Amino acid sequence: MRIAILGAGVAGLTSAYYLARDGHQVTVLEKSSGVALHTSYANGAQLSYSYVAPLAGPGVLPKIPPWLLRRDSPLRFYPALDLQQWRWLLEFVLACNQAQSDLTTRRLLELSFYSRSLMHAFVGEEPQIEFAYARGGKLVLFSDAAGFDSARRLLDYQRSLGCEQDALDRAQCMELEPALTDPASSLGRRQVGGIHTPSEEVGDCYRFCVGLEQRLRAMGVAFALDTEILRLVGQGGRVAAVETRSGPVEADHYVLALGAYSAHLSRPLGLRLPIYPLKGYSLTLPVGRTPALSPRISITDFKRKVVYAPLAEPGGDFLRVAGMADIAGHSEKIDPVRLHQLFEESRLAFPNATDYAAGPQSMQPWTGLRPATPKGTPLLGSTPYANLSLNCGHGALGWTLALGSARAVADVIKGVEPQVHIANFALKKRD
Ligand SMILES: Cc1cc2nc3c(=O)[nH]c(=O)nc-3n(C[C@H](O)[C@H](O)[C@H](O)COP(=O)(O)OP(=O)(O)OC[C@H]3O[C@@H](n4cnc5c(N)ncnc54)[C@H](O)[C@@H]3O)c2cc1C
Repeated sequence: MRIAILGAGVAGLTSAYYLARDGHQVTVLEKSSGVALHTSYANGAQLSYSYVAPLAGPGVLPKIPPWLLRRDSPLRFYPALDLQQWRWLLEFVLACNQAQSDLTTRRLLELSFYSRSLMHAFVGEEPQIEFAYARGGKLVLFSDAAGFDSARRLLDYQRSLGCEQDALDRAQCMELEPALTDPASSLGRRQVGGIHTPSEEVGDCYRFCVGLEQRLRAMGVAFALDTEILRLVGQGGRVAAVETRSGPVEADHYVLALGAYSAHLSRPLGLRLPIYPLKGYSLTLPVGRTPALSPRISITDFKRKVVYAPLAEPGGDFLRVAGMADIAGHSEKIDPVRLHQLFEESRLAFPNATDYAAGPQSMQPWTGLRPATPKGTPLLGSTPYANLSLNCGHGALGWTLALGSARAVADVIKGVEPQVHIANFALKKRD
């Protein structure tokens, strides 16, 4: 079959990979001049297979008013005269209950464990693609006893779902991660304990995508870069063509992988994808002269909702710092206030990880739009259009879930039963 992949982020490229392996003739359409230059560019780098609980949880609603009032809170809401924004918020609020959160977590764990097994196969089969991949484990740190207690209570539930995790006291956390012993580290001082997941991994999503692009070209996949999609043309229950700035593109099947722009471009077809952007920020710090004072393993500061991932790149060792969730529309402009806030979080948490005197501008400042659904589950597989499949809406987990999502979508197109319950991620699923 001739298959057109719409979007060259990590979702589109991994879809192209499995579809090309299945023997299809694949073309990737992308508006930018290169692959993965949007949300898949400088994300938190976490392959966070055991931490998939959605943002919409039972404890979130009471936290929202103080978050919205504080200028330095991890979540900010910029109200707009935008029906999509308010509809998304309403569905998000309705999803903030224990039953829905548990259901979403179980569904996402199935997909994330499947993605992990595919990642392990991928690095074995494609050893030439280097992307600072490391299986160093992850430590989620808590700053108050109540938060740590409730995380410990969750351990048994998480274990029953297949997660291998341990609760570590304050001293054990410091032993595991020497950067926390730095007397100047505010995170080291305030942490009261953490949950350690040895099986968690990190990797540079952008380098993965660039390596994958080269592999795909070698496999015969065509790339139409600088090709902005203007419209999907529907006809008789099928997509007849995709109109682009460079003219129409026709294929037998289309995979929609447009990240935060997926809802906008599918609306004229009568599809309502509940995807809204949650804007986040990252900095990439060159690790300073005393590497022991920068985290060796992936760290999450649970209180401040900031993640830290060590990345061993060809140019040296780096620390990727990511956080913030702004409900603020589709602007991809960097807000200097939010960027400075992330910079300060990092400077206080790991003050000797790098030379902070140079300021955030010297640390590869970046912003990206998480393509978030209110419940936190991506949209995968069939649509009412017989030749249009979805692979979008992965929110804060698109890198983690990429391989499993792409394989499942490729299986649907192939007409075989995917190894995950694809119905859990179907567009029509309302629970
Ligand atoms: C701050 C931050 C930290 C994150 N950290 C993590 C993490 O640690 N782990 C994790 O698993 N996930 C993380 N994520 C989420 C992850 O990065 C995303 O879920 C993932 O990159 C989404 O990939 P995508 O391919 O769906 O979207 P994108 O990467 O945005 O790709 C969509 C592509 O479609 C193209 N496109 C859009 N419109 C058009 C058009 N009209 N015509 C042609 N092309 C078009 C875009 O140019 C883009 O290349 C993070 C996100 C952010 C913002």
